[in-house]
Amino acid sequence: MERVERARARMGELGVDVLLLSVGPDLPWLTGYEATPLERLTMLVLPRDGDATLVVPRLEAPRVEERPELFSVRAWEETEDPTEIVAGLAGSPSTVGVGDRTWSRFLLDLQARLPGVRWRPASEVTAALRAIKDADEIAALRAAAAAVDRIAARLQAGDVPLVGRTEHDVAGAVAAQIRAEGHQTVNFVIVASGPNAASPHHDPGDREIEPGEIVLFDFGGTMNGYCSDITRCVHVGEPPAELRDLYAVLAEAQAEAVDAAMVGVPCEDVDGVARRLITEGGYGDQFVHRTGHGIGMEAHEDPYLVAGNCEPLAPGHAFSVEPGIYVDGRWGARIEDIVVATEAGPEPLNTADHALAIVEA
Ligand code: ZN
Ligand code: ZN
Ligand code: ZN
Repeated sequence: MERVERARARMGELGVDVLLLSVGPDLPWLTGYEATPLERLTMLVLPRDGDATLVVPRLEAPRVEERPELFSVRAWEETEDPTEIVAGLAGSPSTVGVGDRTWSRFLLDLQARLPGVRWRPASEVTAALRAIKDADEIAALRAAAAAVDRIAARLQAGDVPLVGRTEHDVAGAVAAQIRAEGHQTVNFVIVASGPNAASPHHDPGDREIEPGEIVLFDFGGTMNGYCSDITRCVHVGEPPAELRDLYAVLAEAQAEAVDAAMVGVPCEDVDGVARRLITEGGYGDQFVHRTGHGIGMEAHEDPYLVAGNCEPLAPGHAFSVEPGIYVDGRWGARIEDIVVATEAGPEPLNTADHALAIVEA
């Protein structure tokens, strides 16, 4: 079924009369058109019953690839007020779903023009639909994953010099490789060395990487609309026994959690598998985040692998499995793969080696 038809069916279930979508991935997921984040409003008005209209600034209209079967275009002139146009097209709804990322500047105007309306986040309609990837989306995720796998393999092989360079410098080199491997956008590059690896979202800084240290790499971007996200660790020279033990616990937890990600298994159970093994290994207090997040057009989206999310995994769900262990002031490690749930079992899209790679000092 066409995505718009599935969205309309879900609107019916939830009693949402009209969807208003602006910046963010819901709009391109439904129509192929991505709103420019501007002070000039772009907004799709999608009634549950009735024709959809894309309201765009006149000067953006040439960018719209028209799809008359999906929506008509209403270009607004500089002297018009687009929220008035949107409110007029919305009719007299009782419940409106508005895109989660809509600027409050526009939402406040729309709320003034549509008094008495119940406002809901559009993600209540779209998130569960977007979470199930079709074959083309999985192919895009697979290609993006293969691209960052090649970068991980070069880091593991020692092809990227580390010792004496700052984290920031190395992060720049990784970012350049993400682009060179075909991504249009670099979303993030974490390079965390030595004690900085104990901070899960460390911002690469001026610290110089030294021999005898672990270096955690977590990076990803967007390639043809879909995101990559991978974490691997390397050690400069031989790691101490204590770190090897920690890493062995982590690697087993990550692999077992991937294997547990079967269709029908509640999301929280995948988190539970990783957490149980890490706790049994003695590091339970040092695994301080959820096990994973969905991935697609956004780097983080539904479904989340976290305690409390009892939603069962379904075929087409794509998500990260990324447990970590963080020892304050000393070191940390994380291993992350993107995995797709299929009827035949979990399919990891990242296949770069999972061992703690040792690179020359
Ligand atoms: Zn993260
Ligand atoms: Zn990551
Ligand atoms: Zn991630």
